[in-house]
Amino acid sequence: MSYLPTIGLEVHAQLLTGSKIFCGCSAAYGAAPNTHVCPVCLGHPGTLPVLNRKAVEYAARAALALGCTVHPASVFARKHYFYPDLPKGYQISQHARPLATAGRIAIDTPDGVRHVRITRVHMEEDAGKSLHEAGDFTGIDYNRSGVPLIEIVTEPDIDSAELAAACFSRIRDILVAIGVNDGNMEEGSLRCDANVSVRPSADAPLGTKTETKNINSFRYVQRALQYEIDRQIDILTSGGTVEQETRLWDNAAGVTVSMRSKEEAHDYRYLPEPDLPPVVVDDALIAELRRTMPEMPEQRRERLVAQYGLPPYDAGVLTQSPALTAYFEETAAASGNPKAASNWIMVEALGRLNAAGLDISAMPIPATELAGLIRLIDSGRITGPTAKMVFERMFTEGGTAEKIVEAEGLARVSDDSAIERLVSETLAAHPKPVEQYRGGKKQTFGFLVGQVMKASGGKADPEKVATYVRRFLEQT
Ligand code: ADP
Ligand code: ZN
Ligand code: MG
Repeated sequence: MSYLPTIGLEVHAQLLTGSKIFCGCSAAYGAAPNTHVCPVCLGHPGTLPVLNRKAVEYAARAALALGCTVHPASVFARKHYFYPDLPKGYQISQHARPLATAGRIAIDTPDGVRHVRITRVHMEEDAGKSLHEAGDFTGIDYNRSGVPLIEIVTEPDIDSAELAAACFSRIRDILVAIGVNDGNMEEGSLRCDANVSVRPSADAPLGTKTETKNINSFRYVQRALQYEIDRQIDILTSGGTVEQETRLWDNAAGVTVSMRSKEEAHDYRYLPEPDLPPVVVDDALIAELRRTMPEMPEQRRERLVAQYGLPPYDAGVLTQSPALTAYFEETAAASGNPKAASNWIMVEALGRLNAAGLDISAMPIPATELAGLIRLIDSGRITGPTAKMVFERMFTEGGTAEKIVEAEGLARVSDDSAIERLVSETLAAHPKPVEQYRGGKKQTFGFLVGQVMKASGGKADPEKVATYVRRFLEQT
């Protein structure tokens, strides 16, 4: 029997605010332990939280970029559990009324675009950090206590470890593109918990899920999830049942291990937070956030298709980075020929750069000069083969197309008598294919045109060459 996996992700992302969510302490990473703390983030009795406006803006910006509806009012709640890194004995989070719900993201896969729905995006504070490496005691660093987070929860729409990894990457790319998160899993500013279950068929009810935590590197998302999928399938195929539990990914061993079972699961006793008013996000803020939202790769791709008439494939390649898109747009504008700009960039420029392990930032030809080359072709001053040569020179030695063409005498030869002379000379030197053509073997035509082009150093007008070659061959 085969099994189908189901996965839902819970992503925690630290917001790039200067200060913490409910106090003025610095939210910066990497300071000496317990140097970014105050009575509020240490949970001293009698202190009151004050919401950081910037954190709300960043959270709302993220929610919009994830396609969610941001609610005009949302409510903080106390999530209770007891752990030394949580000084108040509860975490301020959002529960019944989160900041935003019902989003959707698109993920490019080798089999086409897949969509994953976003259940919710809510704000919360981070806990401190236990340091177990200190010897025979555990140290706690409260610098992270009160750092603003968003939690992004997906629907269980993901059906493979590979798609889960791609979905997580996509979420990261979006958060980084809009400047609300630094995408750094190793420092813990982006974390991913994954819920996994398996079932015998797509119409069977969802199976019992486990939640895997502690996947702290990008490279291991897919591996950890594949391990957990295979573990559950092994259990079921050998007649067992999957326990609902929380598991930890052990990177060194390459396995997930049980952390706590359903019986040990917390009852968080959520209560509305009495010390904070509802979070209000008004229409003016939403409008402002939308207005200042940078273009997402997806939108950029659609725009390139619509605005320049590019094939979707070209648009996909040219939107792989904002710098590449900018280079294309500048070349397209300066040359007036977007499709030619796209071809030169995708084939000649990226071909050479990729082969050298470089990206567009290392492109030695400025966009305006590539446009200059395209204009020389479009105006008929140089032929296609000459243009390739000129590009090569521009790429390796620099210089403008105009100057190279002038200095090397590379302008197109379209003078009729010169071409006619070249054709008769060249064809006279190839009596055999000429004879074959005349004897009915018409395929030698292309070969002869090629020989004339070669004799001209690629400079002869190819259409005129073809005309004169045909004329020569047809006259007997
Ligand atoms: P819980 O009640 O355990 O918090 P939720 O229904 O809130 O569970 O879902 C938490 C996460 O688990 C979400 O990302 C959701 O998509 C995912 N999820 C829910 N049920 C399953 C399942 N059977 N298999 C895999 N993932 C699931
Ligand atoms: Zn503080
Ligand atoms: Mg839940």
